[in-house]
Amino acid sequence: MEYSIAVLKGDGIGPEIVSEAMRALEAVGEKFGHTFTFTEALIGGAAIDAVGECLPERTVDICQGSDSVLLGAVGGPKWDSQPAANRPEKALLGIRKELGLFANIRPAQLWAPLADACPLKPERLGNGLDLVVVRELTGDVYFGEKKRDADGRAHDDMTYSVAEIERIARRAFEMARQRNNHVTSVDKANVLETSRLWRETVARVAEGYPDVELDYLYVDNAAMQLVLNPSQFDVILTGNLFGDILSDEASCITGSIGMLPSASLSLSSRGMYEPIHGSAPDIAGKNLANPIATILSAAMMLRYSFNLPAEAKAIEDAVGRVLDAGFRTADIAKPGDEYMTCSDMGRAICAEIKNG
Ligand code: NAD
Repeated sequence: MEYSIAVLKGDGIGPEIVSEAMRALEAVGEKFGHTFTFTEALIGGAAIDAVGECLPERTVDICQGSDSVLLGAVGGPKWDSQPAANRPEKALLGIRKELGLFANIRPAQLWAPLADACPLKPERLGNGLDLVVVRELTGDVYFGEKKRDADGRAHDDMTYSVAEIERIARRAFEMARQRNNHVTSVDKANVLETSRLWRETVARVAEGYPDVELDYLYVDNAAMQLVLNPSQFDVILTGNLFGDILSDEASCITGSIGMLPSASLSLSSRGMYEPIHGSAPDIAGKNLANPIATILSAAMMLRYSFNLPAEAKAIEDAVGRVLDAGFRTADIAKPGDEYMTCSDMGRAICAEIKNG
């Protein structure tokens, strides 16, 4: 099969890590007989420098004309003084809107060879850490009406519609079916009306998934449970604001920002796939970045946009074998231990994909 991929390398370490993910996709293509065609387009600071705007129309067109989108990261100190409407980060909100990306999927997994990086005590980890946060991405307090009153009061309107809750809930239940059949819906239904609607709607959607266990947590308790007993979770389903916070918390307990992929999905099969970390300006251009989060994001693309689970697993297994063999980039190496460059890590993973 042939698949077209829009490639938005972005800023900082973006070009370095995305090049390695493209290499991994090519290795998978060779092994399984697929062709991936890449079309590069500008986003973020790189686009501001080249054409004066953070999200050029051409970039949106290329993304909309592709089967899926692979993104590095945007931003950096060079563009911090840009007006708010043309900051690199603004391009992310813009492209999510243009592509109708309403579901953000963030797996948080602790790789056994990196267990030392986890900030939790080993006894807290129970039978491991392998969960997914499914966060609604286009509603909630971030997109409600915002205003300031003359008396100095500020408002951010928190809103959700039944339709918005239903579509994200269905995503979470479908995801649970591909994993361990357990959804935990997180809200603040003891206080917020939007959360009460959230809970009622999730309960109704759950009736269509009798094979999936559903429970509920208030967000304050969920934040505690993530550090006290994270292995109780399979799929965490939540809104935009709570998901923003909980997905960062879930990521940080794995201890390795350079390892964590993400997907943003729409109603069509087209999604956008990117590492959760930023453009790491402190190490940009030094061939020091860890490309694994981006390579694992490419694996998510194979699974969720192209329905190629065996190909996705080939990448994930290759990453596992490389880590088992002791290969490390600087961010995941123990202090004083040897480490490899970004491109050498990419090459090692490709070799494992081919040999696996
Ligand atoms: P960051 O994630 O870029 O970096 C935080 C720390 O983690 C740095 O020390 C960095 O060197 C390290 N790090 C990050 N990714 C790494 C990798 N793959 N390998 C090794 N080390 C890695 O966060 P920040 O410093 O707060 O932000 C830098 C810029 O990135 C800012 O302009 C910010 O707005 C932007 N940002 C963009 C995105 C995105 O594009 N989705 C997300 C977060 C931050």
